[in-house]
Amino acid sequence: MPLDIFKDDAPVLRQKAKPVRNINAPVRKLLDDMQETMKEAHGVGLAAPQVGTSKRIIVVDAGAGLYEIINPELLSAEGTECAIEGCLSIPGWAGDVDRFTTVRVTGLNRDGSKIWLDASGFLARALQHEMDHLDGILFVDKAKTLMEATQEDVEAVEVAAKPTQFRIVYMGTPEFAVKPLEELLSCGHDIAMVVTQPSRRGNRGKVQEPAVKEYASARNLRVLQPESVDDETFIQAARDAHPDFLVVAAFGQKLSKELLNTPKYGAVNVHPSLLPEYRGAAPVQRAIMDGRTRTGVTIMRMAQRMDAGGILAQSVAEISPSDDAGTLGEKLAALGAAMLPRVLQEMAGRTARAIPQDPARATRAPRLSAQDEQIDWSRPAAAIANQVRALRPEPGARTLFGGKNIKIRAVEETGPSAAGSRPGTIECDDGTLAVVTGSGILRVQQLQPAGKRLMTGDEFVRGYRPATGDRFESPA
Ligand code: ZN
Repeated sequence: MPLDIFKDDAPVLRQKAKPVRNINAPVRKLLDDMQETMKEAHGVGLAAPQVGTSKRIIVVDAGAGLYEIINPELLSAEGTECAIEGCLSIPGWAGDVDRFTTVRVTGLNRDGSKIWLDASGFLARALQHEMDHLDGILFVDKAKTLMEATQEDVEAVEVAAKPTQFRIVYMGTPEFAVKPLEELLSCGHDIAMVVTQPSRRGNRGKVQEPAVKEYASARNLRVLQPESVDDETFIQAARDAHPDFLVVAAFGQKLSKELLNTPKYGAVNVHPSLLPEYRGAAPVQRAIMDGRTRTGVTIMRMAQRMDAGGILAQSVAEISPSDDAGTLGEKLAALGAAMLPRVLQEMAGRTARAIPQDPARATRAPRLSAQDEQIDWSRPAAAIANQVRALRPEPGARTLFGGKNIKIRAVEETGPSAAGSRPGTIECDDGTLAVVTGSGILRVQQLQPAGKRLMTGDEFVRGYRPATGDRFESPA
């Protein structure tokens, strides 16, 4: 006999279900009823709490036969993959959820015998979804993004099949752009090609490959590095790829109208700021430099004007006092990556809404200049500390000692400075390295003289023997 399916806010869906102690006739009857309920609802799985019984019982039929498992337990799991799920208890919604790719599950069958089940792909996903129900967890708790789904979509499956796969031309260059690419791959999208800036010769003539190129090459993706994206040969290559989307993250060149017109659904950009604030090449560094405590990520529809397109999605992130450009960039990359799959699905389904940016609120975050790297010791300690964090790990904040360049890598504010001390004056009587600023003292925790290794302030005092009263100078 099919049972009613409990939905939405039903308390039983949120309880931790109790283990079954005796596998008796009522338990076997419940298994029969759950199967009928699942079939009638065209589901591929069902957990006992969904029919109002808070017991650890699931049934799953993901096309590879029926499994009834009493007191299921996850023994081991490997890998993760992201796909769209729905739930018979949450009609009208779908979302993308990370699940283990392969699982080993144990439990009891209806005869009370112990069983083991090795599952992968869709069956593994269904098992994890149903086992979550036994702990009061719903897929919406784990979904990275949620979208409205039609009744047919969700009725057809307790756990939905694969999301639409798109063909994507991905354009990005530094470390920030790796995470979104990784996310698109893990969602099963087809990366037609990866476009990065040409490799440059770095220090000591060594060729430095863009982070995205290294990542993409290691995965045998097709990588293009055009000198100019306006090059007709390149634009033709992009057209020939027949992309559904152009996805851009910190690419570093303006894109022409011809290129923006190549994808079927459109071009989107992942930008690490709360647009319209911090438009430009260095939004992460500029936000830290300004002493901000929050920033975010925006996914926008790309327009011809740099960073001026409509906003498709936005998330806020805190900037902690210990964040530097490296850690904050990583945080924002992960956040932006998690937002991408839903935005693409929405754009393809024509349900995406782009909110225009308010040009009156726009601020600029221009590329860092050599000037930005120089420490002006007459500024307040807090401002210099922000500058040091903003320029870490690279390029580093610079000062001069005895005419030689030194990169200041980490500092800490220690207190007010004595009246009359000149900014830049070194204080090292106690063996630690402190510097007078325009307002307050900064203790230097880490620094790096040109061509030397990274060292602590104490090591610098012992090795370079500055006298109290010596000064760090601003480069001219
Ligand atoms: Zn469910």
